[in-house]
Amino acid sequence: MQRIAVMTSGGDAPGMNAAVRSVVRAAIHNDMSVIGFKRGYNGMLMRSRDTHDDFEIMTRKSVSDKIHRGGTFLMTARCTDFLDVECQKQVIKNLRLLGIEGLIGIGGDGTFRGLNALNELGFPTVGIPGTIDNDMEYTDYTLGFDSALNTACECIDRVRETSDSHERASLITVMGRNCGDIALHTALACGAEYVMIPEAPWSIESIANRIKWGMLNGKRSTIIVMAEGAFASLTSNVEKICRENESLHGIINDTMTSSKLAAILEALSGQETRSTILGYIQRGGSPSAQDRILGSRFGEYAVNLLRDDISGRAVGIRDNKLIDMPFSEIVGQPQPFRAELMHLVSVLAR
Ligand code: ATP
Repeated sequence: MQRIAVMTSGGDAPGMNAAVRSVVRAAIHNDMSVIGFKRGYNGMLMRSRDTHDDFEIMTRKSVSDKIHRGGTFLMTARCTDFLDVECQKQVIKNLRLLGIEGLIGIGGDGTFRGLNALNELGFPTVGIPGTIDNDMEYTDYTLGFDSALNTACECIDRVRETSDSHERASLITVMGRNCGDIALHTALACGAEYVMIPEAPWSIESIANRIKWGMLNGKRSTIIVMAEGAFASLTSNVEKICRENESLHGIINDTMTSSKLAAILEALSGQETRSTILGYIQRGGSPSAQDRILGSRFGEYAVNLLRDDISGRAVGIRDNKLIDMPFSEIVGQPQPFRAELMHLVSVLAR
């Protein structure tokens, strides 16, 4: 191949810039030229009035001063139009018009589905897992997970200090709609007392008892880490709890929120309980050294695959060795539930 393209798609993740830098420089090292598309699949549809807004020809200099920066300088976006096979064919036409022979996409499961579609239509693609969620079964780590974890830990350390001073419980919501990996790892790294994730059932009563147990055993504060999607595995009858507790009358109506949960925990445990949602803070910030290294390794490996005419595969890492797997075997395969980490959080909290 003489010319390849690179793009970032789906949610941004720290380390994406390191991966793009690596793709560009490894390609140049292999005498290939690189075009960087902006805003994921949107850029490749080339609908902007000014094509410079859709793509740019990358040079060594284009990726200078980027490795330490968070976000993605190529920008990212969702593109629902791209689900349509006619749009996918249009993308291939556009890429071929520019003399592009292969595409490296950096993103999550959805991005890989798109890359798989292009590959099945005859256009060679390779994927790099870039998502803070770490929700892909085939790879030990996705790009951005380590940075998000470190950011969440730093925030929780701060919350613990103030919770300790005020002798209160803190419920901290971290990202993870379907995968509890950020919550589990953060809970372990911060010495949290309890963790709730979408993959494992939990009850409000057991957390309230845990807070009470902590107070009886001289703990000044309790840290409870919750994945944002954890309400999906809540087993308690919230309506009944609220009906039976006078101070909670009026709380039940529509959907559960973390601030409602904090109020219920406070009523059941007797310890003041505050809710903090970390939100997009976890996505931003400078990538960790590990993500910069991972992005650099993934990028070069992906270029080498295309150089060797291997496509339809995603790069990953297992036991610190780079691997590649066919898209068809990995899309829709979530990270299995890490029961041993869940158990460890509870053992170490006692
Ligand atoms: P994150 O893990 O951060 O959410 P993601 O890559 O999974 O990242 P999605 O929004 O699911 O993010 O997907 C990104 C883009 O990939 C979509 O906007 C769409 O353009 C494309 N895409 C998703 N699913 C498909 C599919 N089944 N077929 C073709 N393209 C798809």
